[in-house]
Amino acid sequence: MSITDNKEIIQNRNLHVAIIIRRNCNMRCAYCSPLGENKFSKGDICKDLSMDEIKEIIDLGIESGFNIFRLSGGEPTLHPEFDKIVKYILNKNNDTKIIINTNGFKLKQYIDLIKDNKDRIEIRLSLDSTDLSHKSQGIGKILTPEIQDIINDLIKSNIKLRLNSVITKTNISEVDKLIEIARKLGTHIKFFDLYLEEDFIGNKNDAFKWWKNNHISLSNFVASLEKQSGKSGYLSYSNSRCGISAMTFDLGNIKVFLQDSNNGANYNPKYCYDCKYFGNLCRVGFYSPIVTSAMVIQPTGCRVKQFQRSLKGKTHDEQLKSFDNVINIFKNIELIIPSKKNQV
Ligand code: SF4
Repeated sequence: MSITDNKEIIQNRNLHVAIIIRRNCNMRCAYCSPLGENKFSKGDICKDLSMDEIKEIIDLGIESGFNIFRLSGGEPTLHPEFDKIVKYILNKNNDTKIIINTNGFKLKQYIDLIKDNKDRIEIRLSLDSTDLSHKSQGIGKILTPEIQDIINDLIKSNIKLRLNSVITKTNISEVDKLIEIARKLGTHIKFFDLYLEEDFIGNKNDAFKWWKNNHISLSNFVASLEKQSGKSGYLSYSNSRCGISAMTFDLGNIKVFLQDSNNGANYNPKYCYDCKYFGNLCRVGFYSPIVTSAMVIQPTGCRVKQFQRSLKGKTHDEQLKSFDNVINIFKNIELIIPSKKNQV
């Protein structure tokens, strides 16, 4: 494909490249594999990406037509060269942007860097509960005084912030409290249901059973949000126009997104209809390209090996071809709700 073809697909779908710069996390949330977003990747995933590898990925991304990079993990702010990575992306071009997925615990260290570049950096802070007693039930991302302090700093500095919350039966009572916090802060909040992915909730011996015991559909919150909003929710994408669309509610100046994996996702009919994971273990479909800490590029969430391409030890042209191949998968994706017969 040409760079023009790539740019058209990237713009149509608002694609970014996610990079798993750091494999490890300081928390052990029950619903998250110890590998975080590395979970489907083959290869050597037991390490962080080096600065040279990260530079190589960023250069390839820019050459392939991307200008938005999402730093993820594990916990990306734990990478020993986190500030250098941020600066490298910002200095590459005037129009590069960064999304940081973080549990926030180390953000204070980087607040000045983020503040100085607030037009080009967005923070997605994971927050699942306000109740410290949830810690013993596998919820790590709790609103402690330290996290509250960091959030206050971000808000005071007008840094773009969105809260992300995974809702299970354990923290179902937290939804209203988290919405109230978002309202007071004037920041958007996105709720995710528990994905049925055996290797994502893989720190449980029997992942499917655990999912069944813990999953709660976000449709339970629609009526209350419609009441609060005074109008019906509507489908939108909070970022990339791929993956699962979210039922969205306008509550004054904030938006509440309910991203429910039972409501279908963007799949590529050519590949997905015959895939054994369709609508079953794969309920996210194709969501932005990601480069794992094993230097493998693939569509986020897709577990099919055919779409995973190693960038290691390849020539520059071969690496660019791998980027092209993954971008091309997004060309013909469409929102599909798998029939119940596909679902377990
Ligand atoms: S695993 Fe990949 S190919 Fe299979 S249904 Fe999901 S997105 Fe499609």
